[in-house]
Amino acid sequence: MSEQAQEALETQAPDRYECRACGYVYEPEKGDDKYNIPAGTAFADLPTNWNCPVCSAKKVAFANIGPTGTASGFKENLGYGFGVNQLTPAQKNILIFGALALGFLFFISLYGLQ
Ligand SMILES: [Zn+2]
Repeated sequence: MSEQAQEALETQAPDRYECRACGYVYEPEKGDDKYNIPAGTAFADLPTNWNCPVCSAKKVAFANIGPTGTASGFKENLGYGFGVNQLTPAQKNILIFGALALGFLFFISLYGLQ
């Protein structure tokens, strides 16, 4: 990487990463006490054996949620876009079985009319 590219990266606010398993957010400006990661360490510079300090998920389980203080509400927008994907499996089951139950009731009500 050229020195110029390196500088451009360093002047950018570092991206935070959220653990998809437990919701823990790695904040580069804070580092991580548990693994003795000094403050200011970018997520990409974490050692490959670094795991989520809360649930021990691997680095690949983390999603980039953008730098701190993004004014656009990027995270909220992301929530809207992927609303269904953020449901827990139990909530998805309720949705699926709820839809099935509704369909069944609809079928029964038609049957009752005849
Ligand atoms: Zn985690």
